[in-house]
Amino acid sequence: MCSRCVRFTDEISGTHELCMVNRGSRTEIDVFPGMPLDNPLQGNVVDICPVGSLLDKDFLFKRRVWELKGTPSICPGCATGCAIRIDHAENTVYRLKPRFNPRVNQWWMCDEGRFGFKYVHDKKRIRSPLVRRGYETTTPNWKDIPEIVRFRLEEHVREKGAAKVVAMLSPFMACEEAWLLARFVREVAPQAALAIGPVPMEGEDQLFPVSAKDDAVRFTILKEKCPNRRGIEMVLQATGGDLLTFEQFVERSGKGDFSAAWIVGGYPKPWVDKNAAKIAENFELLILQDMFENELMAGAAIVLPSCAWVEREGSFVNAAGLVQVFERAIDPPHAARPDGQYLHEIAGFTGLYTGERVRELMAESLPAFAKAYTPPELPVHAH
Ligand code: SF4
Repeated sequence: MCSRCVRFTDEISGTHELCMVNRGSRTEIDVFPGMPLDNPLQGNVVDICPVGSLLDKDFLFKRRVWELKGTPSICPGCATGCAIRIDHAENTVYRLKPRFNPRVNQWWMCDEGRFGFKYVHDKKRIRSPLVRRGYETTTPNWKDIPEIVRFRLEEHVREKGAAKVVAMLSPFMACEEAWLLARFVREVAPQAALAIGPVPMEGEDQLFPVSAKDDAVRFTILKEKCPNRRGIEMVLQATGGDLLTFEQFVERSGKGDFSAAWIVGGYPKPWVDKNAAKIAENFELLILQDMFENELMAGAAIVLPSCAWVEREGSFVNAAGLVQVFERAIDPPHAARPDGQYLHEIAGFTGLYTGERVRELMAESLPAFAKAYTPPELPVHAH
């Protein structure tokens, strides 16, 4: 009867579904008749219940909490960039929990982010690299990938010229990965165009408590459903040269302006629309980096598996411009490699990729990356 959950629906979600019924020793927590607890922030009542009376059906009986390891991360569900903790064991993510961040999400996260990680363990993910030449398809060793990629791109630039090359960077990439890829593409093809991939938008921004305005808003779910549009734009602007929106990229590719492309997907949902599906046939060399198979794959000369954010490390820049770091929690599926690691090697660096090391290099041209924001640590209680 601490009433934390009731207060949550009154003060944070503003949806008022919960109440206390009866009196004295018969008092109970209940929903108002005909008002199920189904608001977009309802998962938070489980986190704040101090006695475990409210439980998460998604996690219930899946794993003992003391077997879980918590890794600090950032939710990629929308451009708000909530601080979260990834609870995992034996290379499996079991649940996501919010982490206190006074500048972004306070103590909360939304259900969309909390339960939206299941694609990470989807069996249909691309797991190993593929290389095609003519009718021959091979699965090369990772150690050969940097050489193969560089050779094929340099060969194309020699034959067709650097201005025929384009790279599309995804707003699901970490800033470090985007920087490494942009740097490599511009090194091999200095006149290459760089584009940002489609920025998924769904519905409208949702402000909480519902109907709150300005200073009274305590939590926001943004309609921009990707974590790093701003970070990718910062990297592209610092790189300079020909920069394109996704629409311009599709239009110019459709007109045949480019004959070689490096396309990065990594979206949790299908992202290739009808127009984008048609452009694959215009590329003589297509390098596709993605998490799931799509319409572009059949025309790709090189396919590199993208990893989910829980398998990578780096930084995202949220809609408010805050640079925030996320850590790697689990290993990629068998035969895949974290994107940062192979992009690091392709870009000509040796040794282990770490987000921190790449941010130091980036900070020379992008001072915002000299110091990422880290929220203060609060004691974590497993429950
Ligand atoms: S508001 Fe956005 S960033 Fe925060 S938990 Fe929800 S989806 Fe994730």
